Amino acid sequence: MIVIVGAGLAGLSTAYHLSGMPYRLYEREQEVGGLCRSYRKDGFTFDYTGHLLHFRQPAIKELVERLLAGQLQKHSRKSFIYSHRTYTEYPFQVNTHGLPPEVVRECLMGFIATLTRQPSSIEPKERSFKQWILDNLGEGMAKHFMVPFNEKLWQVSLDELTSDWVSWLVPKPELKDVINGALGIKDKAFGYNPSFLYPAANGIRVLPESFLPGIDGVKNGVELVEVDTKRRRALFHDRQRGESREEHYESLVSTIPVPELTRRCLDFPAHLKEAAQGLRWVSVYNVNLGVSREQVSDKHWLYFPEPEYPFYRVGFPMNFSPSLGRAGCSSMYVEMSHRPSERQTPEQLIARARAGMEQAGILRPDDEIVVADVKDLHYAYVYFDRHRARALPAILDELERRGIYSIGRYGRWEHTSMEDAIGQGRQLAERLRAQGVQSVPA
Ligand SMILES: Cc1cc2nc3c(=O)[nH]c(=O)nc-3n(C[C@H](O)[C@H](O)[C@H](O)COP(=O)(O)OP(=O)(O)OC[C@H]3O[C@@H](n4cnc5c(N)ncnc54)[C@H](O)[C@@H]3O)c2cc1C
Repeated sequence: MIVIVGAGLAGLSTAYHLSGMPYRLYEREQEVGGLCRSYRKDGFTFDYTGHLLHFRQPAIKELVERLLAGQLQKHSRKSFIYSHRTYTEYPFQVNTHGLPPEVVRECLMGFIATLTRQPSSIEPKERSFKQWILDNLGEGMAKHFMVPFNEKLWQVSLDELTSDWVSWLVPKPELKDVINGALGIKDKAFGYNPSFLYPAANGIRVLPESFLPGIDGVKNGVELVEVDTKRRRALFHDRQRGESREEHYESLVSTIPVPELTRRCLDFPAHLKEAAQGLRWVSVYNVNLGVSREQVSDKHWLYFPEPEYPFYRVGFPMNFSPSLGRAGCSSMYVEMSHRPSERQTPEQLIARARAGMEQAGILRPDDEIVVADVKDLHYAYVYFDRHRARALPAILDELERRGIYSIGRYGRWEHTSMEDAIGQGRQLAERLRAQGVQSVPA
C-alpha cells in the first residue's frame, strides 16, 4: 500500500499517476488544493494569492491543458515595478528606462563593472544571495531594486541566504539587453513568465479539482499525526469523527513541510530531527480586497521594493479573469511577508494595505472597500541558506531509507511552482510503479 499525505498538487498528481496501484490519499483540510486553492466571498473569488500558470516542461503543460481543456486563457504579462513614483516593466534589470537619470546611470555603471570582474569561484550553495546580486547585476541594481525588494520579501539580510536557487527565477541579462532597457528599446521578452495561463472562471482551484475524476478518492479532514518508520505505520486523526486510524504502508509519500513530517516520525534520528527544525522560512499575509470601482489598475501585478510600502507585491485578479468579482468593481491581492512567529491583526493589515495603496495612488481616499479578508500563509517561501544546504540532503536520504518520499514545495524545501509540484508527483509515481510496490497486509 502507498499512503500519500497531502492533497495539494504534488499529492494529487502522485495519486493521479499511480492509477491502478493501491494507494490512499489523506488531506488535513476539508478541500483539496493546498496552496493552490480559491475561495468565494461576497461575490468575489480569491486565490491564496495569485496563482498563475507558466510552463517549462512540455509534458506537464500538455497534461494541464488536457485536464482543463477549454478552461484556460493565455495572457501576456503586464507586470511592473513601482519605485521612485514611476512604473517600470518587470524584470527590473532590463527595464530601467523611465527611472530618474541618475538611477539609470548607477544601474548601468554597476552592471558594466560586473562584466570585467573575474567570475566567482565560490559554490552557489556557499555564496550569499547578496554577493550573487552584486557579482551578476552590480551595485546600482542591488541598491535600487534587488536588495530592498528581496529583504522586504525574505525579512532577513540577503547575506544569510545562499544563491543556489536563483538561476531561473532571477534572469541574468546581457549588456545589450541592459542598454536597450535603459533606452526603452524592447526587442524581446524576459523572465520566467512573459506569458501565463489562467482559468477563465472560478480561480486556480479548478486545477487541483481537475485531478479528482482521475483518482481514487481523497480522505479529507484527516491529519497525519505520527509515523513509526521502523514498523511502517502511520497514524491519522479524523477531526470530524474524532477517530484515529492506523495505516500500514510500504511507501509513504509526504507532501507536508519537512519539519512537520520529521517531528511526527517517532523513531527518526534525533540529530536529523533537530536539523529539520533548523530549516527556516518566511510567512505571507495575503490581504484580499474588493473595491467598488472598476479597473483601479490596468496591470496584472506590481512589485514594490521601497520600504515605505508594507507590501512587496499587489495583483489584480479581475484583470486576468473578470468573472472573479462583482460588475463595476475591482479585486486585488496584497502580499506582505512576516516572520512565522510575528502576528498582526486582520484590521491592522487591511488598514496598512489600504494606506500603502493610497500612497501609491492606486486607491483613492473615497474608494469603498466592499470586501476585505486576510489569510496567513504560514509556510510561504523557504530559505535557501547554508544550514539547508548542509542538512537537507541527509534528512531526505534518511527518510527515503525508511520508505518515506518527501516531495512538493515544502517536502523538498524549495521554490517549487505548480508545474514543478505536478511534475514531482508524476516522477515519483513512475518510480514507485517501476518498483512495483505491493499491498502490505495489516
Ligand atoms: C505566495 C505564493 C505565491 C505563489 N504563486 C505561484 C504562481 O503564481 N505560480 C506557480 O506556479 N506557483 C506559485 N506558488 C507555488 C505553488 O503554490 C506551489 O508550488 C504548489 O501549490 C505546492 O503544492 P504542494 O502539493 O507541493 O504543497 P501544498 O500546496 O502545501 O500541499 C500540501 C498539502 O498537505 C496538507 N497537509 C499539511 N499537513 C498535513 C498533515 N499533517 N496531514 C495531512 N495533510 C497535511 C496541506 O493541507 C496541503 O493541502 C506560489 C506560492 C506562494 C507561497
